[in-house]
Amino acid sequence: MTPSNGRSYDPGVPDMPGVNVLSALPGLRLTGPRRAVFEAIAAASVPFTADELAQSLPGVGRATVFRTIRLLQDLEVLCRVPLEDGSVRYQLSRGDHHHHLVCSQCGAVDEFDDPELDGLIARNAKRTGFTLASHSLELYGRCAACSASRS
Ligand SMILES: [Zn+2]
Ligand SMILES: [Zn+2]
Ligand SMILES: [Zn+2]
Repeated sequence: MTPSNGRSYDPGVPDMPGVNVLSALPGLRLTGPRRAVFEAIAAASVPFTADELAQSLPGVGRATVFRTIRLLQDLEVLCRVPLEDGSVRYQLSRGDHHHHLVCSQCGAVDEFDDPELDGLIARNAKRTGFTLASHSLELYGRCAACSASRS
């Protein structure tokens, strides 16, 4: 799969254990179509949209592709990454709770986590009497490589 805008980047994680992560999921019955979706996701080198994934799998029904994305999202295997323009891309999750750094130039999505930041978020919710169920946080800008190459 290549990004729809034709640009690509080095994801910087050469040994993303995608296939292992996916095949180790407990209780998942790997039917043919679902396996095809798993393999396409594991092989994706850039964050993808549900449409791009469906288009790369002409032999698999769109509903199956969308359901499988939803399933992997619920299992926290797949990250849902909202972009600045309101569109949504997906990429394999590194697993635990984290936030995203989204590069508007090359489309790279990096991850970071910060327990202090999560503490601040919880504190702010509590202060307003809000019962916090979850949170997500995306930072938008340019990645280190794009920042460095900018003339
Ligand atoms: Zn993520
Ligand atoms: Zn970049
Ligand atoms: Zn957090």
